[in-house]
Amino acid sequence: MPVERTLSIIKPDATARNLTGRIIAKLEGAGLRVVAQKRVRLSREVAEGFYAVHRARPFFNDLVSFMISGPVVVQVLEGDNAIARNREVMGATDPAKAAPGTIRAEFAENIERNSVHGSDAPETAAQEIAYFFAGTEIVG
Ligand code: ATP
Ligand code: MG
Repeated sequence: MPVERTLSIIKPDATARNLTGRIIAKLEGAGLRVVAQKRVRLSREVAEGFYAVHRARPFFNDLVSFMISGPVVVQVLEGDNAIARNREVMGATDPAKAAPGTIRAEFAENIERNSVHGSDAPETAAQEIAYFFAGTEIVG
């Protein structure tokens, strides 16, 4: 299995409920290592740029407003198969459909306020990591 890096975001619904530590424990428990991390408040411009691929979707404006409504914790996770492994421990986008024990099944409020983001492919992982972190901020 390849060692990969992926971008993770702990979203405002989770930081508001003080769930950062419990979510990180789940990520680490799944074999993922936090190799970069910062807590930031996204500007509208940064959130729109991050979710640009969803610009045409009906939920885009709500999603951006949600993502800037409070602090987020942006992370780079590293591990064997990190991209798929992170998606697995996150669970399905809609928490009602997420497998028991996953982060979204345990913590997400609804399909929008779903506690975490994870990159979905090697290309998007590389783009998303570079969007938030300089190479010197990632310490493996
Ligand atoms: P993420 O990209 O955040 O890891 P995902 O890949 O599981 O989540 P996407 O389809 O990329 O899901 O959607 C991005 C985000 O947009 C979702 O995590 C969720 O916050 C929001 N979203 C997706 N679908 C809907 C929807 N039908 N209604 C409201 N918000 C939605
Ligand atoms: Mg996605």
